[in-house]
Amino acid sequence: AARNLSEHLWEHGYPPEVDWNAPLPAQPLTALFDDSAARFAARPMLDFLGKRSSYAEIAALVDRAAKGFQAAGVGKGVRVGLFLPNTPYYVICFFAVLKAGGIVVNFNPLYAERELQHQIADSGVEMMVTLDLKVLYDKMARMLAESRLKRLVVCPMADILPFPKNWLFPIAKRAEVARIPADDRHLPFKRLVANDGRPQPVTVDPDKDIAVLQYTGGTTGVPKGAMLTHANLTANTEQCRLWFVGAKPGEERMLGVLPFFHVFAMTVVMNLSIRLGAEIVMLPRFNLDEVMETIHKKRPTLFPAVPTIYTAINHHKHLEKYDLSCVRFCFSGGAPLPVEVKQAFERTTGCVLVEGYGLSESSPVATGNPMTAPGKAGSIGLPLPGTVIEIVSLEEPRRVLPPGEKGEVCIRGPQVMQGYWKKPEETAMTLVDGRLHTGDVGYMDEDGYTFIVDRIKDMILCSGFNVYPRNVEEAIYLHPAVAECVVAGLPDEYRGQTVKAYIRVDEGKTLTREELIDFLKDKLSPIEMPKVIEFRDQLPKTMIGKLSRKALLDEEAARRDGA
Ligand code: AMP
Repeated sequence: AARNLSEHLWEHGYPPEVDWNAPLPAQPLTALFDDSAARFAARPMLDFLGKRSSYAEIAALVDRAAKGFQAAGVGKGVRVGLFLPNTPYYVICFFAVLKAGGIVVNFNPLYAERELQHQIADSGVEMMVTLDLKVLYDKMARMLAESRLKRLVVCPMADILPFPKNWLFPIAKRAEVARIPADDRHLPFKRLVANDGRPQPVTVDPDKDIAVLQYTGGTTGVPKGAMLTHANLTANTEQCRLWFVGAKPGEERMLGVLPFFHVFAMTVVMNLSIRLGAEIVMLPRFNLDEVMETIHKKRPTLFPAVPTIYTAINHHKHLEKYDLSCVRFCFSGGAPLPVEVKQAFERTTGCVLVEGYGLSESSPVATGNPMTAPGKAGSIGLPLPGTVIEIVSLEEPRRVLPPGEKGEVCIRGPQVMQGYWKKPEETAMTLVDGRLHTGDVGYMDEDGYTFIVDRIKDMILCSGFNVYPRNVEEAIYLHPAVAECVVAGLPDEYRGQTVKAYIRVDEGKTLTREELIDFLKDKLSPIEMPKVIEFRDQLPKTMIGKLSRKALLDEEAARRDGA
């Protein structure tokens, strides 16, 4: 399969000198960071709202913070939580924790207290890093009182803003900045980095030592920590670098709008940028106009995002006002990219939009369409170097299926996690014979391209037939008035489950139930045709911006319980 992959890629303009079977480096992630810091020292690394820092500047802070963490008790295997939006502090503390010997645990800054409690208890973090903004700090102050958390590192927002914002911020945003008590449970960032920047060197076994605990609902829904080793993360970064053929070391600029605590941005934005010596143009949150302005003014060349962001750009009312020609590659992942969205995006912006696929358990990237060729719309592409994709039977999980047959997508490769933190049974169900069972149903075509049909748990069983929500969504997206849609299965007394579509109509357009059904008549079978259609002004999204089928199903369940 690897040989075929090479030939396929050579035909598509990938460099023939690349040996796709060559082993990938099993390095500590900190070595990857140090190599780039030395190689690209004077180059800009981060642009945060206009304040730029070089590789050398950030590397110096990483060393100081690492020594500070060690002084505060962080050593081999100690877990430290990052409760941070995209700011330079995220990058600094991420690498500093690793250099101190610790393990990074990513926390979603939008988590409610119950979710925080669970993740703190499960991961056993004793220390957490956050900002001095009330929205974040107040939650952590409660965690300090109510959970096993012992200490907080608090980073001042004002210090990372450019002049004169840094100066105006504490005045203009006084109400939003938290007062931090001066006790020994609080460690101000300034104190963390007040040292000579020479941490104790730590020996890392890249294949065994965990670098990151990445919490995910996974295939069964209960949040659990995927154990990603140093080797998992360096291998995936290198696999992505090989894939982004044509990216020039020290010359690229990456738009960092996806949140870094999510595995997609952690690897594809942060680690890949560092490997490439690229500058990361960071945005602390997603705002469509800000994204457009930033591309127009800061001229990023690489723009990874999730499908809903590309959809939002497609529907931007003043798209023509912005010059997006600087972007060479857009890379979509995290959720299915509807064919219509990909084509509309490429038509209107002139950018190439390449779809890839992965999950937290695979650090995350497992496949991608070639960056040099059209690839196949609707497909998640070919396996990355060193990766093998197998489709196994849903009934007999050890039987690998031939091309064209649908089964569970499985991944083998150096980016596959060690298992779930303290969950041996779940690990045994997910990692079988060295294969990662993804919980996604798909098939592979004769050319080796994989197509995801759906998640196993999202399949709808309607009158004894399988309905794949993805199929129904693809058909609905073809209607020009549809901006976003989610299809889900609701319990139904007669059919077992029934198909429901939730739709957001594009601003200024109208669509009725009858018009939509009429439009879908020749595109869907009667079994697939949505029986219930609900129009909404907003559809729920996860923190990274994926449309959330789970949130809709939870609402339905709550409604049924209340009825
Ligand atoms: P997470 O680990 O939370 O990022 O979720 C991973 C899941 O997202 C996968 O198991 C897939 O169900 C889904 N996913 C990611 N990329 C794609 C894609 N390109 N097409 C379809 N589903 C995707």
